[in-house]
Amino acid sequence: MSKELFAIFGNPVSHSKSPLMHNLAFKGLGYDACYARYRLENGKELKETFFSLGLKGINITVPHKEHAFNACDELDPFAKKVGAVNTIVEKDGKLYGYNTDAPGFLRAISEFNGVKSVLFLGAGGTAQSTSSILRDEGYEVTLVNRSKARLEKFKQNGFDTFTFEEFQSNTKEYDLVINMTSAGLEDDSLPAPQELLNRVVPKAKACVDVIYGKETPFLKLCKTHNKPTKDGSDMLLYQGIIAFEYFTNRQYSFNEIKNYMKKAFELN
Ligand code: NDP
Repeated sequence: MSKELFAIFGNPVSHSKSPLMHNLAFKGLGYDACYARYRLENGKELKETFFSLGLKGINITVPHKEHAFNACDELDPFAKKVGAVNTIVEKDGKLYGYNTDAPGFLRAISEFNGVKSVLFLGAGGTAQSTSSILRDEGYEVTLVNRSKARLEKFKQNGFDTFTFEEFQSNTKEYDLVINMTSAGLEDDSLPAPQELLNRVVPKAKACVDVIYGKETPFLKLCKTHNKPTKDGSDMLLYQGIIAFEYFTNRQYSFNEIKNYMKKAFELN
């Protein structure tokens, strides 16, 4: 068998940790493959680019997860439900699409015990797939977002939703508070007004940020309330492990892959 080629498609893509994560796992497990990155400008060219590069599989990051969804010949039921694909595998000339972001996230937050109610700060693309899988697993998900427009779809799907203003009269307590926004990624802003956070965070069992690689203002605030916290590194790692399982046709266990892939977080 000749060496299999994999890549991550996105724009921008130069910052991605996925090549390091997957190459460490390929090497550690003795699987004859190589993982690269490709900056794809036009998402509509995803399929032809995939085949012209002779790839076996790809991950897809911002802003092409919907294009990836449209490029697939076959879709996993969960990817179909949420309309976003971040992993594609080629088999017999057909493209099979999966979403591993949401199960990766689910696994990352399952490490907190006794959690039932979850408050999402933010209502973007990541919130969409993760809220869906959490609800399927029996969690109660509520969303609070800066703009009202993004909440509409969630409301139609039966989620409890609030703008910051509407949230002022909400007295419910939440076991887990999660920053699902990009606030704090490239600036020092909080994902919601400090007064709102100072109301919900002290009553939470733990707090999570989907941003990784830095301590965001949100996580700093949670630590001042002495809460257990987790950044987005485990979500990133776990989505990668689940994608690797699809790439290698489930030949290795989750923990075997994790042993090698997690080293990417010690290297830069
Ligand atoms: P989207 O662009 O789809 O949504 C962005 C969300 O953030 C919206 O709800 C937006 O609110 C809100 N927002 C942005 N800036 C602010 C701000 N300053 N204050 C309050 N709200 C703000 O983004 P994604 O869902 O794709 O990504 C969200 C985050 O998830 C990013 O930080 C990304 O890096 C991270 N992520 C992490 C992954 C991991 O593996 N760890 C995987 C995927 C994503 P509004 O509607 O008001 O604009």
